Amino acid sequence: MSKLLKPVKLVVIAGEAGRATRKYPFEEPLVTLDFRGKIEIDASKCMGCGACVNACPPNALQLIEDKEKLVLRYFIGRCIFCWRCIDVCPAGAIKGTREFELATDDISDLYTHVVHSRKACASCDNTYATEKIIRYVAEHASLSEEYLDKCPDCRKRNFIKALSRRRGGFE
Ligand code: SF4
Ligand code: SF4
Repeated sequence: MSKLLKPVKLVVIAGEAGRATRKYPFEEPLVTLDFRGKIEIDASKCMGCGACVNACPPNALQLIEDKEKLVLRYFIGRCIFCWRCIDVCPAGAIKGTREFELATDDISDLYTHVVHSRKACASCDNTYATEKIIRYVAEHASLSEEYLDKCPDCRKRNFIKALSRRRGGFE
């Protein structure tokens, strides 16, 4: 008998508690302050360092590069809205939103591209970093212009040459 009464008791409890869900989309959805939706990238702050790309679990962020350009690409279709990218961005270029109604019939709406120009090495002319990263390093580290103007390979070569000169070796 008590087994039979259990469903009745549950109906009474549910009736007293009232409705817990919303009739979305016929009613406004409940979006709390800590809800995590799509991210937004501020192209003016982003410097193309790739920290967010390394931190992104489902590869929703990618870096695509050729000789002149480096493009940071965000694809909402892969994003799991974890916001790890926001935590790791050194430039504060990414902010979270509470936007979640993202359905579209145009796939290009799901992509964001941030395009950076790349700096060419003063010695070998190969491009090695974005212009903005070079500016960021110049502002935050006390390195000479001569050091910043060269790609890592040329810097290494110059260093070895200087070392060999100091030890009386040959160039
Ligand atoms: S919110 Fe998470 S999944 Fe989405 S782009 Fe950022 S790190 Fe990747
Ligand atoms: S971590 Fe920030 S600055 Fe670096 S590429 Fe991502 S958005 Fe740009």
